[in-house]
Amino acid sequence: MLLVGLVLLAKMLSVKNLTFSYDTTTVLSDLSFEVDKGEHVSVIGESGSGKSTLLKLLYGEYDLGTGSIHWNTTEILGPKFNLVIGYDFMKYVAQEFDLMPFISVEENVGKHLSNFFPEEKRARTAELLEVVELSSFSKAKVKTLSGGQKQRVALARALAKQPEIILLDEPFSHIDNFKKQSLRRSVFKYLKQKNIACIVATHDKEDVLGYADRMIVLSNNKILASGSPKDLYHNPKTALIASFFGEFNNIDGEIVYANQLETVAHSNLNATVVHSYYKGNFFLIEANRKGQTLFFEHSVALQKGTTVHLQIRK
Ligand code: ADP
Ligand code: MG
Repeated sequence: MLLVGLVLLAKMLSVKNLTFSYDTTTVLSDLSFEVDKGEHVSVIGESGSGKSTLLKLLYGEYDLGTGSIHWNTTEILGPKFNLVIGYDFMKYVAQEFDLMPFISVEENVGKHLSNFFPEEKRARTAELLEVVELSSFSKAKVKTLSGGQKQRVALARALAKQPEIILLDEPFSHIDNFKKQSLRRSVFKYLKQKNIACIVATHDKEDVLGYADRMIVLSNNKILASGSPKDLYHNPKTALIASFFGEFNNIDGEIVYANQLETVAHSNLNATVVHSYYKGNFFLIEANRKGQTLFFEHSVALQKGTTVHLQIRK
């Protein structure tokens, strides 16, 4: 009895056999997955693989070809069946965010909050501006902001009414490297604290590793793989998945990351150094093995033409 109660309480997104095409070419074909309350799921895939389309479908922007989308018992319907797009429990931050340029940052963030509770509204807006690290810009007009700052305002506005699930399309793509790391930590920590489920479309592994509970890989209109970042990193199965995580080699049919190869005194895996790329705390060495390019990581630069013996790190 208790179990049944728990199952009913656990909120979740359920996507079943979703198929969609803009015209005659299929963009997404027969996708099924679920997202639990508070879960952080990354959707990755090459440019054009349908990440943005999927988020828009989840938000109800388009009508599905076939299949269904539910948030608990509420079916998400497209414009054919739903006059107003969007639901209170779900927010969506598009790749191209639309803000009101002539009003201030704080007015944009608080736009959907009630004016009947000015003190609460002020506190809530201030809290969210802190999450997106824009407190000092609260009075600035949005039109005076950079692309990255606007992206942060859009994030804060989507969080204002505390949704149960938020869909983020490349949420840090316009934000410079100086800010990106701390902003990511701040936003993802906030979502976990408030138990807000999130689906993040990205092609940046830094958005995924260390944050996502699960990742879904889109390729050729389908879900190519799904699993924890750790599982997919250690067992990438295909070159596409490995390439998401970093430089890798195909050694006799086995996927081996550049950081899994080390130099040893003797081995059967010989290669000739072609180039050393400075990477900060290591060098990425490009080498040639019987006409095939190999990459491995090394603590110092190696002279071009040097013969190295490599082995897969134990
Ligand atoms: P991603 O976000 O992974 O880069 P998209 O979802 O934007 O991919 O695009 C998936 C495919 O759908 C691409 O081939 C793209 O050209 C096509 N597409 C995207 N939006 C539209 C649209 N409004 N009309 C027609 N085709 C579109
Ligand atoms: Mg996109």
